[in-house]
Amino acid sequence: MRIVDIRTRTVAISRYADLAIPSGGLDTTLVAAVASERGGGKPLIGFGFASIGRYAQTGLIRERFAPRLLAATEQELCGEAAGFDPLRAWDCMMRGEKPGGHGERSVAVGALDMALWDLAAKQAGTPLAWLLAQRFGGGLLPGTVAVYAAGGYAYPDDDLARLAQEVEGYLGCGYTRVKIKIGAHTIAQDAARIEQVLSLLPDAGCLAVDAMNRYTREEAILAADTFSRYGLGWFEDFCDPLDYETHAQVARRYPHPLAAGEALFSAADARNLALYAGLRPARDVLLFDPAHCYGLTGYLRIIGEMESAGWRRSAFWPHGGHLFSLHVAAGLGLGGSESNPYIFQPFGGLPDGASVFDGRTGLPSVAGIGFESRDALAQLFQSLL
Ligand code: MG
Repeated sequence: MRIVDIRTRTVAISRYADLAIPSGGLDTTLVAAVASERGGGKPLIGFGFASIGRYAQTGLIRERFAPRLLAATEQELCGEAAGFDPLRAWDCMMRGEKPGGHGERSVAVGALDMALWDLAAKQAGTPLAWLLAQRFGGGLLPGTVAVYAAGGYAYPDDDLARLAQEVEGYLGCGYTRVKIKIGAHTIAQDAARIEQVLSLLPDAGCLAVDAMNRYTREEAILAADTFSRYGLGWFEDFCDPLDYETHAQVARRYPHPLAAGEALFSAADARNLALYAGLRPARDVLLFDPAHCYGLTGYLRIIGEMESAGWRRSAFWPHGGHLFSLHVAAGLGLGGSESNPYIFQPFGGLPDGASVFDGRTGLPSVAGIGFESRDALAQLFQSLL
């Protein structure tokens, strides 16, 4: 099997369910990878998209990475095995790339990689999680996956009331844990947002907060001292992602779980986090995102780095909030997955009609990732073909 066509398109995307709220011109790249092989009389097509929450990577994909995939031979993509192997395809995409310079290159490769894994699982006729469990997860697949609802961006007006309304919506859907954003305003305003949401939850452990890497060192320390009284589920992205010294200072004084890794893109970054950030493997949470750290190949290398530094797979909660992250969490035996039921639509969230019960959800049963099980997303992908 070869890749015979790669279609891409840049589309606008929003951090808010209410599209009238400005979202900074955010966009993402849609990808369709068309295989030479057919299934059920139709071409086999894998779908993917660039990490939602970062910008589109259409230029890098079109100019650099897609041409290498299209030039790859069947032998290069499949080896001696009968099936298409996304790990081999990854090597083809990265041909000629130098170490370092991860930046947004890792996002472009991740978008294509997602489509390639969708394709491989469709060729195998199984949900992606099964494929991953057999190959990388010891063959075990959980019946359900722990999920938390993420959103809670600052509203331009009526912030606290609208935040409460959003969180009540998540709880009404069956989510028991939620994550909201802080870091956009003062620490006192962040504390008010936290207290607003805590008033709706049975336990502070059900709330995680994400400071979006906005705090300076001094602010991160002040925030850690201020928020430690709550006993939150976790305190995420509390300083610049590469400022390991501030990570270590906060970790020494903050007694509850911290979460980091979302804005790191490579196995080398992960090794530095393990060595220098002072995080605590028995307590803290790792948010590396397979969609933007060079796809699954890069993510597996990151897991390898962190496991050799004493971390367990249960500490990994991949960022992303979409179905790809859900399959990865299930197939690799990770702690659980972020879910974006309202934001970053139509990419975020579970299959249409899927239910969450007591903070857990089942896996899609269709072959591939199952993006087609979301009507609005399926229509968007169809627009590429
Ligand atoms: Mg984050």
